[in-house]
Amino acid sequence: MFRSLRTQLSLSIFVLLLMIIALISIFANLFINREFDDYVQRQNEARSAAIVDDVSSQYDTVSGEWNEDALHTIGMYSLYNGYLIKVYDTQSTLLWDAENHDTTLCSQIMSEITYRMEAVQKSGGFLSHSFPLLSGETQIGSVTISYFTPFFYTDNDNRFLDGLNTAIIVIGLVSAALSVLLGWVLARRITRPISQAAQSARHIANGDYDTRIANQPGTRELDQLVESVNSLAAKLEEQEALRKRMINDVAHELRTPLTSVGLHLEAMIDGLWEATPDRLRSCHEELVRLGDLVKDIQQLASMEGDHSALHLKDENLLKLARTAGGSLSAQANAKGLSLIAQGDDTIARVDGERIQQVLINLISNAIKFTPQGGHIRVETEDGKMFSVIRVSDDGIGVEPEKLPFIFERFYRADESRDRHTGGSGIGLTIVRSIVKAHGGTIDVESTPGKGSAFTVRIPK
Ligand code: ADP
Repeated sequence: MFRSLRTQLSLSIFVLLLMIIALISIFANLFINREFDDYVQRQNEARSAAIVDDVSSQYDTVSGEWNEDALHTIGMYSLYNGYLIKVYDTQSTLLWDAENHDTTLCSQIMSEITYRMEAVQKSGGFLSHSFPLLSGETQIGSVTISYFTPFFYTDNDNRFLDGLNTAIIVIGLVSAALSVLLGWVLARRITRPISQAAQSARHIANGDYDTRIANQPGTRELDQLVESVNSLAAKLEEQEALRKRMINDVAHELRTPLTSVGLHLEAMIDGLWEATPDRLRSCHEELVRLGDLVKDIQQLASMEGDHSALHLKDENLLKLARTAGGSLSAQANAKGLSLIAQGDDTIARVDGERIQQVLINLISNAIKFTPQGGHIRVETEDGKMFSVIRVSDDGIGVEPEKLPFIFERFYRADESRDRHTGGSGIGLTIVRSIVKAHGGTIDVESTPGKGSAFTVRIPK
């Protein structure tokens, strides 16, 4: 059985508060009881002293007589307050005794006190203390005071303790109610953005990429959650758009050559055109170009789709440049171009095969767009933060207004000529993807008629 986060949070807060309240009441009770017992003990002692004083003052020093009426009043008054007194004169003759005086009332009061003390779970018993009665320095008799020891609560005392406990219970109940309310509000604040995020994730899973969570919860972790879900949706939306554009571009690129080959073949089949070797060769060339284009597209797709596919190793970029130059030197020679690779030994953590691809694409472009007798240089530089590769030529260059677009997919600066050179317009797009996957940058400087220079920087 799964309980909702809200129920669990509310329950935890509720239980925690109940525990705190219980602990507070236990400690308060213990502390107050102890203090209160001390207070009652002191009260008893003070009362005894007052009784001794009162009784002493009933002796007439002139006549040597006791005021028996007053003794009776004091005795009765003390009895009602839980103090049983016996007064003796100097000859130990009993002058006044609560028990003798009214046995029933006396035992009734005693059992009442015992009962009251048992009700508050205080054990003890009646104990007698004898005090001398003094008039000045001379002893005039003695008084025995019995009371419930170690102490006893009067009715007032009990009412005070009861009130205190009621207050604690009321505070407990109010806090419990508040804790439920607080838990509910707090849990709501936390769970709302979480359920919203869960709901958004479900929408995203269903392909609904334009969902966004609008409100900020105002709690750091929850804000991060909301932000993550939103950025996930944005990323997926972007990817989806990219995929759609890619499919459109590819379909558009394939349609023209396919139609042209199709029309040529149809004309030959229908007998409108004779199938001369020249015509068949041109169809074949077109098909080879299509094959190359498909290969390029595949490579681009694998690069743009999955950056983690890089196999990183420490590589000497000068070495890579020389290998790439070597593999294209025949092509350069055939066109009467000089091709040199030189510069610093610079080590960077790269996918060697991919960087090789970057070099080959850049050098092939330089060969393609540099007329006979031109020069191509591949240079490496060992910078502090970056390893730098520069491929430059003194070829036809690119017009400034076209320069920002040359890295775009299927972009060719000069449609008619580039179709002739066999370019697909995808080479630089692949280069940029690979460089970006390595966390690097690529820049281009170009002057029409003077040449171009492509600079790749790979972070170390
Ligand atoms: P392509 O397969 O057509 O070479 P790229 O993506 O490699 O496609 O290049 C895009 C366009 O950029 C080219 O069609 C060309 O017009 C221009 N370009 C690329 N490299 C050079 C260069 N070294 N010199 C002049 N123009 C270039």
